[in-house]
Amino acid sequence: MDFELSPEQKELRAAVRAFAREALNDDLEARDHEGAFPRDCWRKCADFGLLGLPVPAEYGGQGEDLITTTIAMEALGWGCRDNGLVFSLNAQMWAVQMPIVHYGTEEQKKRWLPGLVSGEFVGAHAITEPGAGSDVMSLTSRCEARDGGYVLNGQKTFATNAPVADLALAFAYLSRGDDKPKALTAFLIPRDTPGVTFGKPIPKMGLRTSPMGEVIFEDCFVPESARLGPEGAGMRIFNSAMEWERACIFAGHLGAMERLLDDCVRYTRKRRQFGQPIAKFESVQGKLADMKVAIEAGRYLLYRVGWLAGQGKSAVMEAAIAKLFVSEAHSRAALDALQIHGGYGYMKEYPIEREVRDALSGTLYSGTSEIQRKIIASCLGL
Ligand SMILES: Cc1cc2nc3c(=O)[nH]c(=O)nc-3n(C[C@H](O)[C@H](O)[C@H](O)COP(=O)(O)OP(=O)(O)OC[C@H]3O[C@@H](n4cnc5c(N)ncnc54)[C@H](O)[C@@H]3O)c2cc1C
Repeated sequence: MDFELSPEQKELRAAVRAFAREALNDDLEARDHEGAFPRDCWRKCADFGLLGLPVPAEYGGQGEDLITTTIAMEALGWGCRDNGLVFSLNAQMWAVQMPIVHYGTEEQKKRWLPGLVSGEFVGAHAITEPGAGSDVMSLTSRCEARDGGYVLNGQKTFATNAPVADLALAFAYLSRGDDKPKALTAFLIPRDTPGVTFGKPIPKMGLRTSPMGEVIFEDCFVPESARLGPEGAGMRIFNSAMEWERACIFAGHLGAMERLLDDCVRYTRKRRQFGQPIAKFESVQGKLADMKVAIEAGRYLLYRVGWLAGQGKSAVMEAAIAKLFVSEAHSRAALDALQIHGGYGYMKEYPIEREVRDALSGTLYSGTSEIQRKIIASCLGL
C-alpha cells in the first residue's frame, strides 16, 4: 500500500492552494452578505483548469483520475474561503459534467462539455422536488413521448446553480402506458427552451454565494436528442453521479476543515487569558487534536473512494461512509472552532460564523446523514 502522493500530485496541490488563496478570496464578506455569485472567480477557476480536471482532453478537460481530482479539490477547499463557490463548482463537475461524460452521446459531449469546462456555461442538477427529497423515487415530474421528443411537466427545487445556469440536468418519470412501470429518465435542458423557467434564487443560511433555485417545466417540449442515456436510465445516472459526488464534493469540505484547524491553531497561540495563550489549556488542545484526527481519517476515506474508482470498482458503501464521516466531522469542527474563538467567533467581524453556516450544509445535501446510514445498513444486508 503506497500512501505517498506522486511529485505531480504534490505540485498540483501546491499550485491549487496558492491560486485559490490569492485569486478567490477578495470581497468575500460582501458577496456572502449579498448572496452574490462570483462569476469572475468561476471564470478564473475554469481558466486555471479546475472544472476540466476529470473531463477527457478531447472535450477540453485534463483527463485526470479521481484521486488526483480529489487532491486538487481538497487544495481548493483549503485555499478558497468562499465555500459557496467551491460547492457550486463541485455541483456542476460531479452532478452535470460527469453524467454527460459517462452517459452522453458524442453530440451531447461536444455540445456541452467544452463550454462547461471553459466556464462559458454553468450547469445545474435538478432532481429534488417540494414533495420528494430523500425519497427520490416519489418524484411527480412527468414526461410523455411525442413525435420526435418528449413533453415535460413538473417542479424542481433546491437546484444549486439554477438561477445562473445555462443548462439543467433534470429527471422525470416517463409514462409508458398503464401496464408498464414508470421509467425515470434524464434530460439535458438548455435555459432558453420554451416551457422551462429557471426560478429566482432561494435565500439560504450558508453557502450564500452558491445560487440555488427552482426549475419549472410547463408543457416543455424537448427533442429526443436532449435525453441523457436510454429511457429509464435515470436512477442509474443519478446513483452514479451521487457516488462520485459524495467523495469529491467532500474533498472541498476536508480542505475547509484543514483551513479551520490552521486558523484555530494561529488564534489559540495569539489569544491570551489567565496570563497565557489559550492554546496551553488542555480542553482547547483536545478540540484541536480531535479536528486533526478527523481530517486524517476523512482524507483516507475519501482517497479510498478515488482509488476504488481508479480500479473500476463500485464504491457505494465507501462513498456513503466517507460522506457521512466528513460532513459530520466538518460540522463538529466548525462548532468547535466557534467555541475556541469565544464571543469573537460569534461576531460577523470574524469568518468563523460564516464557516459554521457553510459547514452545516454537508449533512443535508447529496443525501442526508440518515440516508447515508440507511445506505450503509442496506450494504450490510439489513
Ligand atoms: C445546500 C444544498 C444544496 C442542494 N443542492 C441540490 C441540487 O443541486 N439539486 C437537487 O436536486 N437537490 C439539491 N439539494 C436538495 C437535497 O438533496 C435535499 O434537501 C435532501 O436530499 C433532503 O431532502 P429534503 O430536504 O426534502 O428533506 P426530507 O427528505 O424531507 O428529510 C427530512 C428529515 O427526515 C429524514 N428522513 C427522510 N427519510 C428518512 C428515512 N428513510 N430514514 C430516516 N430519516 C429519514 C431526513 O434525514 C431529514 O432529517 C440541496 C440541498 C441543500 C441543503
